[in-house]
Amino acid sequence: MPDAVVIGAGPAGCAAAIALARAGRDVMLLERSPEPRESVCGEFLGPDAAAALARLGLDPATLGGAPLRRMRIGHGGREADVALPFPAWALPRRLLDGALQEAAGPALRRGTTVLGAVPMGEGWRLRTSSGEIEARRIILATGKHALRGHPREGAPPPAIGLKLHLAGVAMADAVALLPFDGGYAGLQPLPGGGANLCAALHGPPRGLPGDLLVRVRAGSALAEALLRDAHPLWDRPLAIAGVPYGFRQPAAGPPGLYRVGDQAAVIPSFTGEGVALALHSGLAAAEAILAGQEADTFHAAWRRRSAGPMRWAGLAAHVLRASPPAFAALGAVGPLARLVAARTRVAA
Ligand SMILES: Cc1cc2nc3c(=O)[nH]c(=O)nc-3n(C[C@H](O)[C@H](O)[C@H](O)COP(=O)(O)OP(=O)(O)OC[C@H]3O[C@@H](n4cnc5c(N)ncnc54)[C@H](O)[C@@H]3O)c2cc1C
Repeated sequence: MPDAVVIGAGPAGCAAAIALARAGRDVMLLERSPEPRESVCGEFLGPDAAAALARLGLDPATLGGAPLRRMRIGHGGREADVALPFPAWALPRRLLDGALQEAAGPALRRGTTVLGAVPMGEGWRLRTSSGEIEARRIILATGKHALRGHPREGAPPPAIGLKLHLAGVAMADAVALLPFDGGYAGLQPLPGGGANLCAALHGPPRGLPGDLLVRVRAGSALAEALLRDAHPLWDRPLAIAGVPYGFRQPAAGPPGLYRVGDQAAVIPSFTGEGVALALHSGLAAAEAILAGQEADTFHAAWRRRSAGPMRWAGLAAHVLRASPPAFAALGAVGPLARLVAARTRVAA
């Protein structure tokens, strides 16, 4: 019986599995996809994510990340263009998840979907697409997707995320934040050329994803200029529904079930801190297990550690949603970006 079975090999699950395996624990990492693939994500990584990756022996730049140095925000005819107050990278998730999964080594079992998990004696029994597995404890790292029988209690109303890779867009070293009617989008360079457009919708999709480009372009002169010659590289955007922005896992839960990443807390995507939180929560869960802490102690500690970042990201996303013109006011963006960046740090 392995010490721990980790369900889901995204950033959170990989971080937990790598840390446990390196500490000599018998760990199994189950991932339903047969190979690393694109997922809905703005692909923006800041210093918190880089700090967690460094603990795992990885570095965004050597993985092929394009450095980002500026942030542009457009609303209507207005635009702000400020220096980013920290180092950041644009790194496609296929590359990031692929590197993390490789670092997990023999613990990883690709192409295995976990269909359910029930407590059994001192441990857990998992039903998977490749048969039953028993484990002393499980680390739930399935991201946005709830495992059957283990919903996130009290999750807020879900939003929709969309992602589309584009050719014909020149972003240089800038990330652009583009509010539009019904949501906001991030646009940043792809390392080999072109750009990643990723949007969060806070209302009903109303024609999206088909007219994503049209809707974003209508939001600002900056979006219109950046996306004028854009061609989608895919037939349609990748989409994910049911994203409960603002969710935080309560401390209580069944013994031996540790929730990490988006299963523990879902930070509004606008700050680009989701991957950082996922990586740090995976590392923290591994530390808790190595220290013999029960799941509720870990969840309580993670709630405390992520409370400030979640509050500030929620506040910033609210301002962006409720009053884009105020957000885009020239002069306010630089100080606000610095403040939010400082308050959403989760690295110890
Ligand atoms: C629109 C949008 C934009 C975003 N932009 C950014 C950004 O720019 N920067 C940033 O840092 N964060 C961003 N995020 C947040 C970020 O994508 C997530 O916070 C992060 O991916 C969470 O990592 P995770 O490991 O918890 O889950 P995931 O990355 O979702 O990984 C979960 C893994 O579990 C696997 N899985 C699921 N169910 C099962 C099962 N039953 N059995 C086996 N395997 C399973 C999945 O295949 C997947 O590989 C964004 C999110 C959205 C929605």
